Amino acid sequence: MKKGLILAPDELSHKWIDRLVSLGVTELQIQFLEGDLVAFEKEGTPACLQLDGYLDLIDEAKARGLSVEYMAHGITHMLPRGLFDEHPEYFRMNAEGKRTPDFNLCVSDPAALEIAAQNAVRFAKSLYGSCERYHIWMSDTQGRYCQCERCRSLSPSDQHLIVVNAFAKAIREVIPGALVCFLAYQDQLKTPLKIKPEAGVFLEYADIQRDQHVALRDLPERHAEMKSLLDFFGRENSMVIDYWYDNSFFSRWTRPPQPFKAEDKIILDDAKFYAEQGFEHLTSYAFYLGREYEALYGEPDLDSYKLV
Ligand SMILES: [Zn+2]
Repeated sequence: MKKGLILAPDELSHKWIDRLVSLGVTELQIQFLEGDLVAFEKEGTPACLQLDGYLDLIDEAKARGLSVEYMAHGITHMLPRGLFDEHPEYFRMNAEGKRTPDFNLCVSDPAALEIAAQNAVRFAKSLYGSCERYHIWMSDTQGRYCQCERCRSLSPSDQHLIVVNAFAKAIREVIPGALVCFLAYQDQLKTPLKIKPEAGVFLEYADIQRDQHVALRDLPERHAEMKSLLDFFGRENSMVIDYWYDNSFFSRWTRPPQPFKAEDKIILDDAKFYAEQGFEHLTSYAFYLGREYEALYGEPDLDSYKLV
């Protein structure tokens, strides 16, 4: 498996690049924050990529052998919310039968999908130094999909796959080798029932709800759906995201970061388990381990990742 780590954009540094190289990581993923996406919508470029010196960091990462890719819960910026007043039909219908621009979109509206797909193309082209793997995700929420008459019978996973297929088709018209992920996460962890993946779509599996203090091998209730997803999407290009080094998760997403201790035994066993399932790419969040963490606690111990 190829090995990555996901960093917050404001934590990327020369120090982190050194650390990635010393851990044997070859894939750097950066997950945009909301401010990056707002800047993309307004200015055409995510905010961090406009900062002085940031592109030099990306160049340095690549020069040191890392591929670079970007991730984002970006759907609300692919279909700008400002369109709601004129075109409420682009947006999701909630359980009360009202159209709302709060999350996601109506996946049965062709114009909404077309606008989102064209913005996904602009987004893909704005990603400095990116490899050809794209991660444009639905809203980070649960139970908030479209319930209009046409969408109601589509599961959250089917609704997500309709969007991913539209993105893959549009992006591959300008970047023929582009790959676009289906993010199996929260209520999209179930295999799609009615929609099939188009060319260029790959599985990205991120089971945030699983118990992080027990090896995945010992959580058989999590296995069937994962295997079903792998069978459905295929193992080629598949990626698994774990939370082993995600100190934002262990700090309950509240600063300051808490002291971090990796669960090395679980990490090594989980990595082996993922390899046995046939995943090709493996990564983990590694938020809240940057400068602020070091100033409080010194260098975090990530050495177990060398053995993965
Ligand atoms: Zn709908």
